Amino acid sequence: MKELPKDFFEWVLDIMGFYNVKIDDDFVKGLKNVNRYTRAGKSGKVIYCPNCNAPEIVYNFSWALATCPSCDTTSYKHEWLIK
Ligand SMILES: [Zn+2]
Repeated sequence: MKELPKDFFEWVLDIMGFYNVKIDDDFVKGLKNVNRYTRAGKSGKVIYCPNCNAPEIVYNFSWALATCPSCDTTSYKHEWLIK
C-alpha cells in the first residue's frame, strides 16, 4: 500500500470545504456558560473547563471558583461551560 502524504487529511478537508473548520468548534459552540439557573440535580452535572474544555462532574453549584484538574486553571463559576 502506498504511503499517504502527511497532509492527506488537510487535503481531504480542503476539497470538502472544511479546511478552516476546527474539529472542536462544533463541540465548543454547543456549550453555554453556567448561570444562576444551572442546577446539578441528583446525579451531578458535567461542566467543561473554559480553558481546556476538560469535563468535570459537580454535585452542586454552591461555589464561586473551581480549579480544573486537567490544566490547573482556576475559573469563576459563570466561566465554566455546560452542554
Ligand atoms: Zn482545564
